[in-house]
Amino acid sequence: MIPPRSFVIVPAAGSGLRFGGPLPKQYLPLCGATVLAWTLRRLDGLQAVAMAVGLAPGDPYWDVHRPHIQTPLVTFEGGAERAQTVLNGLEALAGLARPDDLVFVHDAARPCVRAEDLARLWRAACDTEDGALLARPVADTVKREGAGGVSLATVDRRGLWLAQTPQVFRFARLKDALFEAMSAHALVTDEASAIERVGGTPVLVAGSADNLKITVPQDLVLAEMYLAQQGL
Ligand code: C5P
Repeated sequence: MIPPRSFVIVPAAGSGLRFGGPLPKQYLPLCGATVLAWTLRRLDGLQAVAMAVGLAPGDPYWDVHRPHIQTPLVTFEGGAERAQTVLNGLEALAGLARPDDLVFVHDAARPCVRAEDLARLWRAACDTEDGALLARPVADTVKREGAGGVSLATVDRRGLWLAQTPQVFRFARLKDALFEAMSAHALVTDEASAIERVGGTPVLVAGSADNLKITVPQDLVLAEMYLAQQGL
């Protein structure tokens, strides 16, 4: 069987409100480049046909910080929500990708993803029609909050996972599922949830703890340390 071709979508149109500061978090300096540049360099290892980066309207930073990578880069305008940004990316790639090609979606703010995890994810995705995602089993005790910020109950953490990215799906399946979810105004915080809504069961691939999503300033310090530890 011929292996499917790969495409990549990187939603990078967020304003990074939780992070604070004047610069969107994807453009913060990290080990001599930007967060986004590290992310794209890691994804370059997938040898995809094309990588589509979703930018905020009027993004003034991309042209200055655009990294040099092997994979052909295209940009497109992001939407108000992450899911809309990804859907716009699928539309931007629609003329290039075939229905059964794989499309990897990866947060701009996850610059430390490991090459070996990308390879395992790719292998898992080749064997399924429902896609696959990197994820980690929940390690902490999980609490359900009650009114007034009290701990109401303890949730059984067995079988619970924290979803990371990349998440990878067949191109047409993801486009249809995301379109359906957006039309229904469903809450989709990742691509897997859109696939689950239409009855799909994406494969959970155990990822690494250092594939963190930069969300608060301390995460940037951790990302620096992880990149150095990984030999950059
Ligand atoms: O805000 P959060 O960290 O969950 O965002 C995850 C990713 O989605 C980031 O890479 C961010 O830039 C992107 N995003 C987007 N369009 C939006 C909101 C978030 O591309 N409207």
